[in-house]
Amino acid sequence: MEKARCRCWVEISKRRIAENFAAVREVVGAAVEVMPVVKADAYHHGAVEVSRVLAGAGARWLAVSNVEEGVELRDAGVGVRILVMAGLLGGEWETAAARDLTPVIHSLGELAVLERIALRTGRRLPYHLKIDTGLGRLGMRASSGEILSAIHGAPHTELEGLMTHFASASDFNDPQTGQQSIAFESMFMLLAGHGCQPGYLHTASSSAIAYGRRGSWKTMVRPGLSIYGYVSPAEGDPPERLLAVGPALSWKAAVLDVKDVPRGAAIGYGARFRAPRPMRIAVLGAGYADGYPHQLGNRSRVILKGRHAALLGAVSMDLLTVDATECPDLEPGDAATLLGREGEVAVDATELAHGAGTVAYTVLCGIATRVKKFYV
Ligand SMILES: *Cc1c(COP(=O)(O)O)cnc(C)c1O
Repeated sequence: MEKARCRCWVEISKRRIAENFAAVREVVGAAVEVMPVVKADAYHHGAVEVSRVLAGAGARWLAVSNVEEGVELRDAGVGVRILVMAGLLGGEWETAAARDLTPVIHSLGELAVLERIALRTGRRLPYHLKIDTGLGRLGMRASSGEILSAIHGAPHTELEGLMTHFASASDFNDPQTGQQSIAFESMFMLLAGHGCQPGYLHTASSSAIAYGRRGSWKTMVRPGLSIYGYVSPAEGDPPERLLAVGPALSWKAAVLDVKDVPRGAAIGYGARFRAPRPMRIAVLGAGYADGYPHQLGNRSRVILKGRHAALLGAVSMDLLTVDATECPDLEPGDAATLLGREGEVAVDATELAHGAGTVAYTVLCGIATRVKKFYV
């Protein structure tokens, strides 16, 4: 039996990250640039390590949310192009230029800011322009005429990419993705008709890649979740899934104690579980302070010695209680798997998300920083 490395930790497979990246490239083909998204500390997989793996595997672009995330990668020596997707604050424009971080422009006012910095630094600064085609979040709703005149008013900058983001790419009951694609295409044609033809056109993230919305792949795609091995479940009647990826992260906790309790014993806060018969329980060194969703009280399972074991009672801040009745030789110091695979038995983030009434993204991003990362 595997022994615990510490109280609570994750193990991240670099090989799996590289394989998932290769799988995305294979699906979209060589003509489409793949820009993996490593925001939010690479969905808790560790942005620096993951970025090194991806750059080593041939990624020429990475995407982050903010300038701080981009600076962390530059400080670690990551040299590939980096797109900052989710907005810059006042002083960050200068930093972005100094560290070769390419901003996404969401308003025409931002383009004027970039032009001033380009003039001051004497460098031609590239940017990607994001249009709001219906997500109703970041991205401009300006007309093509307004955009063209702003572009001509910023001659020291370079429109390198045009992008938008989908609101409902995994929902095959909803026509929204098609409508957004049409709006994107028509903006592109209007700009191109006036000689503005950015090289990178990108709209697709993991769902649009995985479920084969080929028309959305354009010349670049932005996979995040799928790089880490997951694809959101589809609604409605999706076409055949093209992309096969596997989880790169396993989440583990130490067995702190194993004990027998009599029939009727109450387990945990609120006595939300009562033993229906004599049971053996194991206490694990993980809880909601490690990011294990509190909503999973009495409704998830872990893996103990290659078998599923039910979570008993409430999730505490630092502890979980599980049913170890079927594991007579479990001992303190053994490792339990909260998320991952032991042989044929698996628990994945989609399952935990389902139990907690959330999505796999929040399970991964919710793993706390105090949970140590090991690369395997
Ligand atoms: C997070 C994000 C992505 C990646 O989305 P996934 O669903 O994780 O593949 C792509 N584009 C933008 C703008 C994002 O914010």
